[in-house]
Amino acid sequence: MSGWPYTTTAWRNLRRAKLAASPLCHPCELRGRTVLAKAVDHIVAIAKGGPAFPPLDGLMSMCEPCHNAKTNAVDHPNASGFRRALAGYDVDGNPIGGDW
Ligand SMILES: [Zn+2]
Repeated sequence: MSGWPYTTTAWRNLRRAKLAASPLCHPCELRGRTVLAKAVDHIVAIAKGGPAFPPLDGLMSMCEPCHNAKTNAVDHPNASGFRRALAGYDVDGNPIGGDW
């Protein structure tokens, strides 16, 4: 990840605030795993019209494998790859079709 907005002080501050508020990987947490987050992800990608500096609930803390899985899915036309990667959770972390 490089370039705007990731090189800005505003992003670094926002990223630090998100990791301080949510230090664990959110997708892993949903699956009952405790993994420290290393990345802060835009829930709505900037490329898809999401804000570059959203409020904290517009961001998701993720570990590297989860973040890479999402980035790969978003970068490819078939975004369902991320759904499979998260084993039943959509990109917002909601169970897909779950009644539980
Ligand atoms: Zn994870």
